[in-house]
Amino acid sequence: MRMSRYFLPVLKENPSEASIVSHRLMLRAGMIKQASAGIYSWLPMGLKVLRNIETIVHEEQQRAGHIPVLMPTLQSADLWRESGRYDDYGEEMLRISDRHGHDMLYGPTNEEQITDIFRAHVGSYKDLPLTLYQIQWKFRDERRPRFGVMRGREFLMKDGYTFDLTKEDALHAYNRHLVTYLRSYERMGLQAIPMRADGGPIGGDYTHEFLVLAETGESEVFYDSEITDLTFGDRTIDFDDVGACAGVLDEFTSRYARTDETHDAELFAQVPADRQRTARGIEVGQIFYFGTKYSEAMGATVVNDQQQKVPVHMGSHGIGVSRLLGAIIEASHDDNGIIWPEGVTPFHCGIVNLKTGDAEADAACEALYDSMVALGLEPLYDDRNERAGGKFATMDLIGLPWRITVGPRGLKNGVVELTSRRTGESEELSPEQALLKIA
Ligand code: ATP
Ligand code: MG
Ligand code: MG
Ligand code: MG
Repeated sequence: MRMSRYFLPVLKENPSEASIVSHRLMLRAGMIKQASAGIYSWLPMGLKVLRNIETIVHEEQQRAGHIPVLMPTLQSADLWRESGRYDDYGEEMLRISDRHGHDMLYGPTNEEQITDIFRAHVGSYKDLPLTLYQIQWKFRDERRPRFGVMRGREFLMKDGYTFDLTKEDALHAYNRHLVTYLRSYERMGLQAIPMRADGGPIGGDYTHEFLVLAETGESEVFYDSEITDLTFGDRTIDFDDVGACAGVLDEFTSRYARTDETHDAELFAQVPADRQRTARGIEVGQIFYFGTKYSEAMGATVVNDQQQKVPVHMGSHGIGVSRLLGAIIEASHDDNGIIWPEGVTPFHCGIVNLKTGDAEADAACEALYDSMVALGLEPLYDDRNERAGGKFATMDLIGLPWRITVGPRGLKNGVVELTSRRTGESEELSPEQALLKIA
């Protein structure tokens, strides 16, 4: 992409409505524009990162055998009356009626709708296990939408639903999700720690939230510092291997890690004092096994091998896709702007032309641009006729992992300058060597 032809409405001044750094940087880098409270338009660069995050989520879900679907955002209230949640859900639910006076709602989540799909089409235990998921917009009329996309009213969520014959099978599906989440967050350059969450009225031990540590997080968290040494890394796992998935759950959840909702001071006191940590965290996902709550209420049954009709065991598993943009920026920025992890960056490399209009500099930039495209990389070329300082400031603000600076003086010696956004280190290299480094 050439900057002169792109739509990147960066702001020079700090927007006054933004109180945390990720919100400020997303506005300044021209990624989003507020449409109304907690509702945002996604501008080109914001959309690119959103799509990159979605792609990682899709790839990791499908790697585990989970199947994508897409359900509508507008749902019929009748389904929610069946489950009993229409009245329980409260003011977070946006209720709408259509021209015929039918009660509709903008879905805050989709357990009812997916259960309705399941019961219409699945009748035998032989069709299980089944995991269906979607990435779709949700609406929750949050009392205090704030922090930009972090607590929006309209937000993008991956929500996956598991259907199994037995509790044991459902817990394998739960563990499988834990593995896919660990992999997904790591690919986004994030450490998200599974912490025991509150099962609510259904209770049980089978729910974990994934938290990214950040000062601006809304949850207070308590954990054993050993947990931050764990990484999933590039190990391979057989998602059908029940023991292997359970082993990952054990590894990542056996140490103390809880949010304020489930914190137990007595248990925490048993963690060696030098490893006790209290911090704040951002909830970027949650996994939840809830048994037969919806299948019983809505008649989602299968016939088992004894010819008996039994309700299926279900779980639901969410990732806060749009919130993740905020969480990634909270975890990865400096005073000059965003520092995108390679896995989600909107462009791989920025090219800064120090002297637009100089035939040699223009030609060298164009050649670099073409070579990057040929390598499958996406460059953002600042070809505008502007001062170098302004170009550098924009590149730092939008936070691409690499910047290649091209000017007549360097070209006389056959070199360009390659700068890492994360370390700030620069080196002079031939254009070919610079390409090798970033490819
Ligand atoms: P929170 O505790 O932050 O209100 P939640 O527990 O109500 O979140 P879930 O129902 O678990 O949310 O939804 C799955 C994921 O969707 C959450 O882990 C979070 O990352 C994301 N999410 C929830 N509410 C919002 C929101 N208002 N704006 C952006 N993302 C959200
Ligand atoms: Mg909530
Ligand atoms: Mg929560
Ligand atoms: Mg939650």
